Amino acid sequence: VLIARHRMRSSGRWARAMAILREFEEKCGTPLSKLRQVADAMTVEMHAGLASEGGSKLKMIISYVDNLPTGDEKGLFYALDLGGTNFRVLRVQLGGKDKRVVKQEFEEVSIPPHLMVGNSDALFDYIAAALAKFVATEGEGLHVSPVRQRELGFTFSFPVRQSSIASGTLIKWTKGFSIEDAVGQDVVGELTKAMERIGLDMRVSALVNDTIGTLAGGRYYNQDVVAAVILGTGTNAAYVERAQSIPKWHGLLPRSGDMVINMEWGNFRSSHLPLTEYDQVLDAESLNPGEQIFEKIISGMYLGDIVRRVLCRMAEEADFFGDTVPPKLKIPFILRTPDMSAMHHDTSPDLRVVGSKLKDILDIPNTSLKTRKVVIELCDIVATRGARLSAAGILGILKKLGRDTMKEGDKQNSVIALDGGLFEHYTEFRTCLESTLKELLGAEVSDNIVIEHSNDGSGVGAALLAASHSQYLEEDS
Ligand code: BGC
Ligand code: MG
Repeated sequence: VLIARHRMRSSGRWARAMAILREFEEKCGTPLSKLRQVADAMTVEMHAGLASEGGSKLKMIISYVDNLPTGDEKGLFYALDLGGTNFRVLRVQLGGKDKRVVKQEFEEVSIPPHLMVGNSDALFDYIAAALAKFVATEGEGLHVSPVRQRELGFTFSFPVRQSSIASGTLIKWTKGFSIEDAVGQDVVGELTKAMERIGLDMRVSALVNDTIGTLAGGRYYNQDVVAAVILGTGTNAAYVERAQSIPKWHGLLPRSGDMVINMEWGNFRSSHLPLTEYDQVLDAESLNPGEQIFEKIISGMYLGDIVRRVLCRMAEEADFFGDTVPPKLKIPFILRTPDMSAMHHDTSPDLRVVGSKLKDILDIPNTSLKTRKVVIELCDIVATRGARLSAAGILGILKKLGRDTMKEGDKQNSVIALDGGLFEHYTEFRTCLESTLKELLGAEVSDNIVIEHSNDGSGVGAALLAASHSQYLEEDS
């Protein structure tokens, strides 16, 4: 009798846990019809953001990049790439059309967490010090001019209101950064002051978002690149717009006729987005409530935490992991997206990766195969929603560019440069994004749309833009 009662109790629990999962799955649904609505809403917001400053949740920031790399760029340039938990310093020797990147060196430095929420001087002093150390390793064989000031392309992957190619003020932080006194400051000024404080003589020649750097880096190798998308800790996109189609641009019409736009699509939001109560709580408890809603259901900083939140509910309301709720399940961000990805890709017969992740990270030992399967299913629901919505965002851009349909005799390729750890390392996410985009475009059009991984293009891209905006350009020509 006892055993029978136990079985009944546990089958009741299981049913309740599955009900929670199914409800979540339903709310995360992304049928093609919904994705098309999201894409259309994206296109509408793009127009609104271009029409006037503050006209949309999409800031559609004018980057002041009106010329993308051609291959002719020459010389030694530095780049600094700041935007996640690591930053990178790069040194790139550009050799012009035939030689291209002659030599490239870089170093990656992690940012101590307390500096991500401290004050501006502390963060920039730390960065300048790392940069100075790197500059000191400048070796033989490089064509360093003794009279020229070193020049740097600064990739700063947060929303910045640009005032020129080499200046701009920070609008707000995202992705776990929160440094109050830097908001509203010119980030180039902050970096330059920090470099002066330690006696590093270097000029920032270009300030760019990582999407802009990726677009520039992509274009350097492939002239068909028209847009760039980052899927990493955060998410965002940039694309080449016709300057004439930017009503809020009152400057001179660039000779190229083009202007690259940093969309800041992470802040996109629409009633068509499949948001759940878990997303709402995640947002409310975040460092930036009410902001970056698209980012919070798509990007690497958040996917693992959404999974954790659903598991936590299943544990609390359906004893999914036994009679007690595993305490670690309540710790925000303890389950990181790379761990979620590892579980999702577990193909071993006993799902031992899932088992060991649950044990090692969440202190949940001895899970059954059945339980592990459910965890994978949950990872799949969360990743699929994010990947399909990313594809819808890309469709929105293609629509804005008029490249979502076939024109008579048109065989022109449109290449989208993608980068970021989520895209690079989360295979299920990436393949789902790619197949969804194909589905949305149809076979004929999708033959002309290419998604290209632009590996760490943003650093080289910033160096290239520093080169094309070098203070020494005049005397060269
Ligand atoms: C930032 C963007 C950035 C993106 C990807 C977002 O949180 O707002 O500026 O491009 O992350 O790094
Ligand atoms: Mg990056």
